[in-house]
Amino acid sequence: MSGLTLRVITPDRIALDEQTDAVHLPGLDGSIGILPRHAHMVAALDAGELMYRTGGREQTLFVAGGFAEVREGTVRVVSQAGELPADIDEERARAAEKRARERMALTSKGDPIDLIRAQAALRRALMRLSVKTRNS
Ligand code: ATP
Repeated sequence: MSGLTLRVITPDRIALDEQTDAVHLPGLDGSIGILPRHAHMVAALDAGELMYRTGGREQTLFVAGGFAEVREGTVRVVSQAGELPADIDEERARAAEKRARERMALTSKGDPIDLIRAQAALRRALMRLSVKTRNS
């Protein structure tokens, strides 16, 4: 039985709109498990893997951080990006990883904000590569 609606909204599309049995969100403090009849909740998300299970089948979506709201049987995720493994361009993620590492090396003694941004870009790239290689 699928008792949860999972909707992932990005600036340019609805990345996912499915009935599912269980969802694991990449919360800032670790994975958050959601089952049907979960209490109302909002949570900030890290860039990482959103997992959802439907009829015993587990699937993964990369999300680039954002927020999740759980309310009345619906998990609503708002994120800058939501990509199924097949959507992820591996070469682009490798190029982003390289750029982020170069920026980190350049900025490590400079502006701390630039360093934080480069670290966040590196995390997005590594998580995309992880979702792609473990799920294709
Ligand atoms: P890049 O530097 O390659 O743009 P990014 O981490 O800065 O990477 P995001 O800000 O997370 O990119 O996403 C911007 C848009 O580009 C979103 O629509 C996202 O889905 C898409 N995108 C970014 N990287 C990839 C990728 N490797 N494969 C597929 N889509 C991607």
